[in-house]
Amino acid sequence: MRGVVMHGPGDVRVEERDNPTIQEPTDAVIKIVAACVCGSDLWPYWGTDIPDQQLMGHEYVGIVEQIGDDVETVQPGDFVVGSFVISDNTCEICAAGYQSRCVNAIFVDGSIGAQAEYARIPYADGTLVATPGVPDDDMIPSLLAASDVLGTGWFAAHAAEVGPGKTVAVVGDGAVGLMGVLAAKEMGAEQIIAMSKYPARQELAREFGATHIIAERGDDGVAMIKELTDGLGAHSVIEAVGSQESMMQAIQSTRPGGHVGYVGVSHDVELPGGELFFGLVHLHGGPAPVRRFLPDLVQKIWDREIDPSKVFDQTMPLDQAADAYAAMDQREAIKVMLKP
Ligand SMILES: [Zn+2]
Repeated sequence: MRGVVMHGPGDVRVEERDNPTIQEPTDAVIKIVAACVCGSDLWPYWGTDIPDQQLMGHEYVGIVEQIGDDVETVQPGDFVVGSFVISDNTCEICAAGYQSRCVNAIFVDGSIGAQAEYARIPYADGTLVATPGVPDDDMIPSLLAASDVLGTGWFAAHAAEVGPGKTVAVVGDGAVGLMGVLAAKEMGAEQIIAMSKYPARQELAREFGATHIIAERGDDGVAMIKELTDGLGAHSVIEAVGSQESMMQAIQSTRPGGHVGYVGVSHDVELPGGELFFGLVHLHGGPAPVRRFLPDLVQKIWDREIDPSKVFDQTMPLDQAADAYAAMDQREAIKVMLKP
């Protein structure tokens, strides 16, 4: 089969790899119907994380081809959505809703690589969710979004305790930030402030439910949020970048007693103790336990209650994966769907 391997920064290749097979009785092998490039795939692309023959891709939907003897909840022929971290969904951590840190967690990125024609999914029952039937083609991008960016935006909104009547600020206008906007709208936020300086992304943020756009960053961005909230700051802030600047912008934009949900993969973020102490804000975040939300999100998409599909603004064949990475690197695309 063909799959994407990153050999070094900026060096994305589609190569022949062995077809996956069932190795454990809890495994499933799925034929990938759609995968995509994540903003976090750009960290190794830029060389911030050093890739070494890395099997790329962690967002996927597909059709189950084979299952091991112990798999109960999915059958060959089922259309499935998987989360970006393998989880058993039975250990104490999973039971508490933190499947991304399951005691048996495996990150799909690097070990399995979903930008490929097939994938072996360990702990299939604990990782995959079957859709009620075979989805129409137009629903596939939305289901694919649930695999990571929608689930991550949803978790961020939960972690930030978004709710009716609240003012929510979203730092980061990549796919996850935009999904955070959608989640905030679904959870009944009154004001949703998207921080974005790119016109196309501002427009999409408005479509997903943003009521205000702030193009300024850093201290100026924080000042604008304060201006919109009687000097108090937002009740809930979603951080979806992972840099020092964005994390501090999120913390400083939150009112005392408010909540920050941070899901941008942290890169060299160091929090000053004084600001943490006197900020008096709640911080919760990390790799999103997407599996917690998947059954609900899949149903919402199936019932056409939510439509996150517009987060994909380009589609390319798997063979053009290198172009997909380049388009996202150059910000010509927000998120590229790959079709094997
Ligand atoms: Zn677990």
